[in-house]
Amino acid sequence: MSFDDPMSWLGGWEGYRVETVERREGEQPEIWIFLGFQPGAALICDGCGEAAGAVHDIECRVVRDLPILDATTFVSVPRRRVACPQCGPRLERLSWLERYARVTTRLAESVGRLCAVLPVKHVATFFDLHWSTVKAIDTHRLEVALNPPEFSSVEVLAMDEFALRKGHRYATVVVDPRRRRVLWVGKGRGREDIRPFFDLLGTAGCHRIKAVAMDMNAAYAREVKARCPHAVVIYDLFHVIAKYGREVIDRVRVDEANRLRHDKKARKVVKTARWLLLRNRETIVREEDHVRLDEVLAANQSLMTVYVLRDELKGLWRMSSPEAARTAWNDWVRKARDSAIPALMRFAKRLEPYLAGIAAATVWRLNTSVLEGINNRIKVIKRMAYGFRDDAYFFLKIRDAFPGIPS
Ligand SMILES: [Zn+2]
Repeated sequence: MSFDDPMSWLGGWEGYRVETVERREGEQPEIWIFLGFQPGAALICDGCGEAAGAVHDIECRVVRDLPILDATTFVSVPRRRVACPQCGPRLERLSWLERYARVTTRLAESVGRLCAVLPVKHVATFFDLHWSTVKAIDTHRLEVALNPPEFSSVEVLAMDEFALRKGHRYATVVVDPRRRRVLWVGKGRGREDIRPFFDLLGTAGCHRIKAVAMDMNAAYAREVKARCPHAVVIYDLFHVIAKYGREVIDRVRVDEANRLRHDKKARKVVKTARWLLLRNRETIVREEDHVRLDEVLAANQSLMTVYVLRDELKGLWRMSSPEAARTAWNDWVRKARDSAIPALMRFAKRLEPYLAGIAAATVWRLNTSVLEGINNRIKVIKRMAYGFRDDAYFFLKIRDAFPGIPS
């Protein structure tokens, strides 16, 4: 091919040349390119990759290619099946068109690149393709890029659940927190639901695991202990503190508001302080919010107590050793008991069985804030790629969003 035949040269449909081109006007203009065989091009069997001597039959296909200028582009291509001595009748191998693809390889690659940043529906509109075609192209791209997963350097894990859709259906995400990589995503949050991950990790991989961070989820802990004999279970700060917020701070705030039911103004101040009380003080930006928080705490002794004890509880994870964490814990429990606040005493009692997993965190210092980041990102992906009720595709998108940083 040369400048004598510029259309074929530009198009790069290897093994073919352009015979005719048609432009069809309309609301959406179309360009139709009709290809014929390039004389002398090699004939390769797609099954074995060997040269094949004879053609078995020819069938005409229409595939989509990248748009040309303003026009949607169709390519009419005669597809040969070779008579391969080894494989029998097989499609001819082409460099630019996969076996049963309805779009050229370069169009599929462009679709894939856009799908990494845009919702499927937008990509479909952009290329004038059906959304199911776009989703199939993207699914194929992700499966090739992400499978089989590579776990050989993984020594620590973090696992968490997230809501799959409304109505309490859950999924589990397993992460390598050191490299911020999503290793696995699966439906459910029960012991048997996460079993496929450990099967995939294999016996050697399971034996390599030294620590697993998680929420206080008995099912996860049981499966980890059964599969990974050298792993310690760690309860991470993020989940414990979130639980403290729900079970202690919220409870005390509601009780205080009820107690103040005859003082409407004071009651309203307490009732509307929820987010201020649950947030980290360092993340509160506005000066007036700091003032409000201080006022609420100063006026309500119980709230002040549970607020201060939350920060002291966080301190357990920063201790220099498990022994120091245990000492701090005993101190903390005594204060909780002395407070005589029922919600706080109840929480201290419930947390006690998890102490070993909190003390172990001082050794491993896993930064599980990655889980919080992944949870937020999952919500975005859900809006972008979901709505098709295709969990497998959704899970691939989550893995693709956290490919990991090099170790
Ligand atoms: Zn063959």
